[in-house]
Order: sequence, then C-alpha cells, then structure tokens
Amino acid sequence: MPELPEVETVRRSLAPFLTGVSIRAVTVRETRLRRTLAADFAAVLTGRTIAQIGRRGKYLHLHLDDGKIWLIHLGMTGQLLVEEAEPSPLLHDHVLVSLSTGQRLRYNDPRRFGLMLIGTEAEIETVTALGVEPLGRTFTGHYLREKTQRTQRTIKDVLMDQRVVAGIGNIYASELLFRAGVQPSRVAATLTEGATDRIVEATKAVLREAIRHRGSSISDYRDGEGKRGGFQDRFRVYDREGQPCAACQRIIQREIRGGRSSFFCAVCQR
Ligand SMILES: [Zn+2]
Repeated sequence: MPELPEVETVRRSLAPFLTGVSIRAVTVRETRLRRTLAADFAAVLTGRTIAQIGRRGKYLHLHLDDGKIWLIHLGMTGQLLVEEAEPSPLLHDHVLVSLSTGQRLRYNDPRRFGLMLIGTEAEIETVTALGVEPLGRTFTGHYLREKTQRTQRTIKDVLMDQRVVAGIGNIYASELLFRAGVQPSRVAATLTEGATDRIVEATKAVLREAIRHRGSSISDYRDGEGKRGGFQDRFRVYDREGQPCAACQRIIQREIRGGRSSFFCAVCQR
C-alpha cells in the first residue's frame, strides 16, 4: 500500500504534466471505489484547470481553479499514470481524464480501495481527519509524548494512526522503529523522552531517504510515469524475516498482531 514517500513521489512525477493543465473530458468506467464516485464527478471536473498538486499524508490534493480540491487516495493498488495520446482502456482503468495537452491521466486500481472526491478544503478535512505531517515542524518529540502519555496502544499503532501523524503505514513504521532502536510492540506510554525524540528523528530521516529513492515498490506501486521505486532495496527489517540484521547479525523476527506483520531485531530494538 502506498505510504507517504510513494504518494510524494507520485505527486512529484505528476506535477510537470498536470500543473496549469485543463481537463477536457472525464470518463468514469467504474464508480465503485472505496466510496462510490459522486454522480456528478465527471461534470464537476470537466473544464476545470489544475492549479497545483499537493499532498497531505497519503492523499493527493489536486487544487482546481475554482478553489475546490480533487482528493485522491490510491488505496492498496491504485495507480495514476500520465500517458501520451489515448490508447484503449485496460482492465481496472476506472477513471480516464483527457488533458488539454493531449495527454491522458489514467486511474487504474484492481482492488478498488482507492478514493476520489471533489470538495472544499473544509469538506476534505472532515473526510480525511488527519494529524500532523511527519516532515513538518509540528511533529516533535513533545507532540508525540502528548499523544502517547495516556494510551495503552503500542508505539507502532500510534505511529500508524493517521489522526496522530499522517502518512505512515506498516513499511515505514517498521523501518523507522528499527532506526530508533524501539520494538514495535512497546506500549507507547512507557517510552522515555529520549526514545520519543529518537522516534521523531528516525521518522523524518527514513521518510526523507525513501522519498530520495522514489519510494518502495513491493508489488504494484509505480510513480506517475510507470517507474518503480528503489527504497525496497534499503529495507533493514521490513519483509526481511529470517535474514540477519545488518547491524548485529541476529535473525530478523516477524510478529503478527491484528492481522499485520511487524518486523524487528530483538537485539537492536528494545
Ligand atoms: Zn540487530
């Protein structure tokens, strides 16, 4: 599932093709995404110009010239691709957008957990209910301690709660906790001040590094030009069960909680 670095990479790859570009026509081939696409979706979008493309957490914000936002979440398998001309649609191409440049933006999503809607900034905020941006100044050790003081949840669950901090999923939670030296199953309230500070630092460092490597392509993630990311080759723990830890040579373990796998080194992480 695309997390912040993948969505940021998609944003950067699409920006040159979409910024200042008008929408000539919209074809909706399937309305049943995570939420049913609004009946007037195509009509509302047609004729608008995309002023800029932003991101909040794992969501893309395409700012339209009427002040509204076209919100896109890629779900688990969603891909947004810009292509030359307009070849015949493929299986799972749910939304096709013809652009004033003659190119086409294609939304393909086999599992249909993606989301698309158009609304005002206030409407979008109500739908997404996101916490702070992890790369922003407001994500600090102090902020994280406020969110962890009175909870019985594990630190990994807190970090993956989009209402606390937006954009982190299973991959980057696993990787950043390894770098911070904290076990994923630690009850968040038991962390020291030093540990929460290290977690915030590791979060920013891992996300920045992953963006530099254009995200992680585990299965089907691609950027807006169909290219794979490279950060999967730099994983220290994620998806490395049974392999030796790069730092201490002990075997990386996997623990399943709530249907989700956590990967960690029991020596390096406490
Ligand atoms: Zn280790």
